[in-house]
Amino acid sequence: MENLELAIAQIKEELPGMTLLENEPLAQHCSFRIGGPARAIAVPSDVTSLSRICCILKEHELAPLMLGNGTNILFPDEGLQEVLLISTEKLTKLFLLPDGAIYAEAGVSLSRLASFAQQNGLKGLEFASGIPGTLGGGCRMNAGAYGGELKDVIESVVCYYLPEQALYELTAEECNFEYRASRFSKVGGFVVLSAVLRLPQGDGEEIAARMRELNEKRREKQPLDLPSAGSAFKRPEGHFAAKLIEDSGLKGYAVGGAQVSEKHAGFVVNTGGATSHEVYDLMMHVRNTVYKDSGIFMEPEIIILAPDYKLEDHGPQVPRHRVSINNWEKGEDVPFPGEDARPDKE
Ligand SMILES: Cc1cc2nc3c(=O)[nH]c(=O)nc-3n(C[C@H](O)[C@H](O)[C@H](O)COP(=O)(O)OP(=O)(O)OC[C@H]3O[C@@H](n4cnc5c(N)ncnc54)[C@H](O)[C@@H]3O)c2cc1C
Repeated sequence: MENLELAIAQIKEELPGMTLLENEPLAQHCSFRIGGPARAIAVPSDVTSLSRICCILKEHELAPLMLGNGTNILFPDEGLQEVLLISTEKLTKLFLLPDGAIYAEAGVSLSRLASFAQQNGLKGLEFASGIPGTLGGGCRMNAGAYGGELKDVIESVVCYYLPEQALYELTAEECNFEYRASRFSKVGGFVVLSAVLRLPQGDGEEIAARMRELNEKRREKQPLDLPSAGSAFKRPEGHFAAKLIEDSGLKGYAVGGAQVSEKHAGFVVNTGGATSHEVYDLMMHVRNTVYKDSGIFMEPEIIILAPDYKLEDHGPQVPRHRVSINNWEKGEDVPFPGEDARPDKE
């Protein structure tokens, strides 16, 4: 705690012009509308100030938590004693490179990116036009929909690697993109700064029509009128999470203000005043019931940040939240907060 306060004081002193929101309600920075105060949210104006904040935090044996649009995150009701960095305000450059590829910074929204591609007659990003996140969050998650994924269109990614305080340009292959995962989710300490995307030429009208069609599908099928963080669980191989949940009779199941959407069982929605604990409890019940009924174990797709997650032995420079979640992705035995073991390990 002392380190945190010292780091915040140093950030204020060294970057006096930068916006630093203190004790800021996280509920206002995520699509779930859940979460207590963050000790500080910094809005770096460029890569230099972002790097400087990372250096200061590292000097104090802390690490930042990067935030995009907050559309895949569940923040704790207790808030976070952390410094968050937000990309959406200033890291938003987007332009065509001389060779026709797209350059975009991490805070560019996927919908803006898809529209930009369409306006330039470039096809392949139609799938992304309705995904409410940013390019940075999208790279971490390898965001995808309707048969497309960011991995299909990304040529390279520039990132800041906290443990070494160094910038790296990674090829798409080096990003190790997988289904809703990447090098950035599996190894803590990467901040995605920008990416180059290469798309083939297409017909602007056809691209726009496909985007309209996919967005119409979304409006029909997804509970876009209620706060959520998208699909709560990853698709288990060979199955659909929503179907498994429905087959277990859990459509509409609620814990307090958290509910399995009546419209799409793959979504957990906040029907009003849901707490993060209610969402955890609901997700655990859903996962355990589905496991009992079908023998299929569903992993959360939502990044669940909880204050009581244990710091694994990865060194102080690695953000603890991502480490915990990463272990989930690696299938290691890291339980939900408050849970002793994965059901299949009992
Ligand atoms: C209604 C709805 C529909 C959705 N539909 C889809 C869909 O069809 N397909 C899909 O894939 N997802 C979907 N999502 C989930 C979400 O939009 C995506 O996962 C998106 O890529 C997250 O981006 P974000 O900027 O909101 O990330 P955030 O939620 O802000 O962050 C997600 C993770 O990425 C990390 N992160 C954020 N920025 C960076 C960065 N610059 N560098 C390193 N790490 C970073 C965060 O620390 C966090 O761990 C949906 C969500 C909602 C609410």
